Order: sequence, then C-alpha cells, then structure tokens
Amino acid sequence: MELFELGIKGAQEGLAKGEFTSVDIVRSVIDRVHAVNEKVGAYLTFDEEGAIRLAEANPKAVPIAIKDLINVEGQPCTCGSKILKGYVSPYDATVVKNLKANGFIPAGRVNMDEFAMGSSTENSALAVTRNPYDLGRVPGGSSGGSAAAVGGDLCIAALGTDTGGSIRQPASFCNCVGVKPSYGRVSRFGVTAFASSLDQVGPMTKSVEDSAILLKALAGHDEMDGTTPHDPVPDYVAEIKGATLKGVKIGLPKEYFDVSGLDAEVKRITEESVKRCADAGAEIVEVSLPHTEYAMAVYYIIAPAEASANLARFDGVRYGHRSEKATDVLSLYMKSRAEGFGPEVKRRIIMGTYVLSSGYYDAYYGRAQKVRTLIKRDFDEVFGKVDALITPCAPTPAFGLGELQNPLTMYLNDLFTIPSALAGVCAASVPAGATAAGLPVGVQFICGGFEESKLLKVCKAFEDATGRVECRRAI
Ligand code: GLN
Repeated sequence: MELFELGIKGAQEGLAKGEFTSVDIVRSVIDRVHAVNEKVGAYLTFDEEGAIRLAEANPKAVPIAIKDLINVEGQPCTCGSKILKGYVSPYDATVVKNLKANGFIPAGRVNMDEFAMGSSTENSALAVTRNPYDLGRVPGGSSGGSAAAVGGDLCIAALGTDTGGSIRQPASFCNCVGVKPSYGRVSRFGVTAFASSLDQVGPMTKSVEDSAILLKALAGHDEMDGTTPHDPVPDYVAEIKGATLKGVKIGLPKEYFDVSGLDAEVKRITEESVKRCADAGAEIVEVSLPHTEYAMAVYYIIAPAEASANLARFDGVRYGHRSEKATDVLSLYMKSRAEGFGPEVKRRIIMGTYVLSSGYYDAYYGRAQKVRTLIKRDFDEVFGKVDALITPCAPTPAFGLGELQNPLTMYLNDLFTIPSALAGVCAASVPAGATAAGLPVGVQFICGGFEESKLLKVCKAFEDATGRVECRRAI
C-alpha cells in the first residue's frame, strides 16, 4: 500500500508508531499528484515546498487538501474565479487554525465551481476536474476538487463546503464520505461567503471514522463567527465506537422517493441501503416532510439574494482583478465584474438583486423566508419521531462532462440536499453501492441540529454493514 492511499486513521496510526513521518506522507501525495493530477484536475495549486516545510515542523501531522475558498495565509484563494486571480490570503481561516492546532496541515488547493455555485465543478473558471471513476464524467460540485482528490487517492482527506449540497453530492459521485455539519457547528471565519445563512465547512474523507476525527478538529465556538455556540464539542471519535443500528428509528421521507427524475439504479441502491439498515436492526418508518416541494424554489431565492450581497465586495478595488479598460469609478466596478465573473455567478447576482429589490422583496425574499421556516418545522417535527432520515443523496450517479447544459437541470441535482441545508440540520453522504457500469452512489443520512454524534454513529454502523463499495476506478 502506498502512503497516499491512507486515510486519516491509518496515517495517524503509522505516524504514532514511527513507521513514517509527515514528510513521507506529503512526498507520497505530491508524487501521486504529479502522476495523475494532469488527468483528474483535482488541484489548482500545490505549494510543495511550503507543505514539506510544515510537515518537517510537525512530523506527526496529516496533510489535508483545502477547497479553494478557504483562506490559508500566504496562499492563493481564487474561489475558482478569474476575479480573484493573483489574490493571496493575508490570514488563516479559523478552520485552518483548528486543523493546525489538532495535528493537521493544509496541503494543496483543490478546484471548485466558481464561488461554490454549481453541481459539477464545470463552473470553475480555472480548470476542468474529472471524476476519478470515469474521466468522461464530472466529480460533482461545488466541492468537486475535494471529492476527486479523496476518491482518487490524491490526498488523505479534504475540506469541502456545503451551502445546498456541495459536500454531499460530490461525495456521492466520488465514493467518499462527506459530512455537512449543522449550521453553526463549524466556524465560517475566513471562508469566502456564498450564502451566509447556509454555508458550512465539513470533512470529505475515505471513511466515517476519518470524518469523525476531522469534524472534531474543525468544530467549536469561534469568537469571530457569532453563529457558533459555546456548547462543548462531543468527542465524535469516542461516540462512534461500537456504533449499531439496533433499535435506531430511521425515517423514510416519502417525498424523497416519489420523484420523477430519480435514476433507477440510484433508487435500487437506496432501497438496498434501507434494507441493509433494517437487517442491521434499525426500525424503518415512513415519514413525511410536507413542504419539501418548495425547498428548491426557496433556496434559489435565498442563496442568490445572499450571494448578491456577499459578492458586492469584488469590485476591482480591494481584491483581485481590476479592469484595465475602466475610465472612471463606475466603469471600474462594471468592467472589473463583467470581466471577472463567469456566467453562473452573474446569473445568481442578477436573480439575487432582483428578489431583494424594492417592490419585489416581500413577494420573493420575504415569502421565501417564511416558507423556509415551514421547511425547518417539518424537520423539527420529524425528529421528534425518528433518530435519523435516510434518502437518496443525488438523483443520479455522476453525469458526463458537458451533459447538463440547462441551469435548471443542473439545479435539480440538489433536490435531496437542499431542504436539510435550509433547515440547518446535519447530514452526510456515505458510499452505498455501485451502478452496473461501476460508478459510485452514496446514500444520505440526516439528523437534527447539532446531532452530529447521532449522525456519525448511524453512518458508521451503515458503513460497517455495507463493507467496502467496489467501484471501477479510472486512475
Ligand atoms: N449546487 C448548489 C448551488 O449551485 C449548491 C452549491 C453549494 O452547496 N455550494 O447553489
């Protein structure tokens, strides 16, 4: 076994026994990146000397790939956008500080949809990322670089972010575990904002235990992010020991199965997953989340509204690209933004500005906020009856590069991940099976707010019951 194939647990065990050092792992990852990144396109940049220096200074640390919107001091942070070309972070995000304080080092920056808007990483203005299980297909998105790096063994583990599904859907496409923590569980300070009431950083890993280890390192109160409560972070690693599905009540939300766009193989794999849970002792009950059908519309009002405000800061003055064609301050703003942003980002800014404009605010944004409350109440109510929910993660397996041309069909990828994001609860994708063609498919588990211990326990017990999912890898 090569060192780059290790997960966090394996790396930590070998480091503890002195079998190898952090530098050995970093060098192995770098060799792997040299060998296959040209094919996969997971990384945008990799400061090799910097990573080796950090590893020398922290000989027991595990390297982690970082999604390109998380600030690491002295490194580029382009968010997959031309507008941030040349931008270098002046400080570490809190999650990066937390990594460093807990035996990890940032190593390499991985690709993403521009400003995390998308479901395939095709909206990156900087590089094409391919699915390591089929190079003609997308890795999912927006954390597609993270997923491709984990699923293709181009890293030990990675950080992603999830606003409406961007950790879970790419994890499903690339055979990894991806956890979207509850809103507020992990600090967003230093993470470039897309939709501030939804954004959350989380682990993307090769096993559930690795996600527990990484989440424990990331989570907790941060005085720089007022959404992070003071409550102590449970020891997720200890919590998942001996995890079982015996006696666990798992809800099957009927709105997630009765969907026209649900691929037949994804449906089969999800049903097999439900059966596996039942065989392992879980009690399966049908439940209802009646406002599910409105979630997509609500998300595509709230997320663009927040994005239009957050992205106003990219004006050619303070960060990144500045148009050379500008003649006065207004044309500086307009030309820098027109040249710097890609089409999907512009679409979101226009939609967001529209739903917030006077005369439309109440009809769109105000109403969406009210429906969001109803969606959240659905979850509150259902978690009074069951411990967890099981659902498909994405409606299809990884699709072909260039296959989805219409933005609306792209948006439908997040049908199953958006409602829980709006509710602020925690959710994860766990490898569940493979299609006949050998493509990975994940299943989604959802638990209540700040119930990551419960979520990780269910995921671990499911992973144990499933065993290793054999997929056909292309690299
Ligand atoms: N695909 C969704 C979008 O385009 C979700 C993205 C995300 O979670 N960052 O907005």
